[in-house]
Amino acid sequence: MKLFISADIEGVSGVVHMEHTMRDGREHDRARMLMTEEVNAAIRGALDAGATEIVVNDSHGTMRNIIPESLLPEAELIIGSPKRLSMMQGIDETFDAALFVGYHTQAGENGILSHSYDSRVVKGITINGVKYGELGVNSLIAGHFNVPVVMVSGCQLLALEAKALSPNIETAIVKKSVFRTTAQNLHPARAQEIIREKAAAGIRKRSEIEPFAIKAPFHVEVEFLQPGLADAADISPLVARTSPSSITFTANEIMACYQMLRVVISMAGSALS
Ligand SMILES: [Zn+2]
Repeated sequence: MKLFISADIEGVSGVVHMEHTMRDGREHDRARMLMTEEVNAAIRGALDAGATEIVVNDSHGTMRNIIPESLLPEAELIIGSPKRLSMMQGIDETFDAALFVGYHTQAGENGILSHSYDSRVVKGITINGVKYGELGVNSLIAGHFNVPVVMVSGCQLLALEAKALSPNIETAIVKKSVFRTTAQNLHPARAQEIIREKAAAGIRKRSEIEPFAIKAPFHVEVEFLQPGLADAADISPLVARTSPSSITFTANEIMACYQMLRVVISMAGSALS
């Protein structure tokens, strides 16, 4: 049985601040160790449930966070960027299930370090009238390959976001968000036990969890944090401006939708440099 793990850092127990998440942050190296151990917990759970092949995709920032020599040897690790599928690099139709570790709520919502892909750029992403963050969009990519996302770990509000998308998903709640940069955290050892249990439980009931999908065509609106960012995205001939700070585009296929989303976010981000 083949398992895919996408690992972010904001949802890891003990992580609450940009000092943990940014490459030059004083606490970043400690947060990377905690992230690696939460991924190891998910790998242990996957092995408990019978996984024989595990691919881990480092999905945060530089995409070079997980410490390779500390990762369990049963998994292979994708690190580095760029990656065509970004947080979902490595997924294809040969996987039986996916796990999302260390995830966070979407931009504009409560929850630890909430954002959608680029916290300097994106105010919100709407597809066919519904707002989605990384959890939702990445679940659509897994769904495109007919792979169910069977477990997510993060704060209690991320768990609610996950249940709204997929009622049968297992959620490993490793901290309670108080404010966006304040949380009551489980001890890392306890957080890791819960991730291991929930990962195994999710994998065992994977046939009860539908791969996530919505109907094509995909009408996407991206709202940026300020008009200058939308100006940069508006250079593309494939987008239309819908307000000073937002653009829209349409895609007939979810992979094209995802890649266009990544293009407009990175073009908008170029306005900051
Ligand atoms: Zn993220």
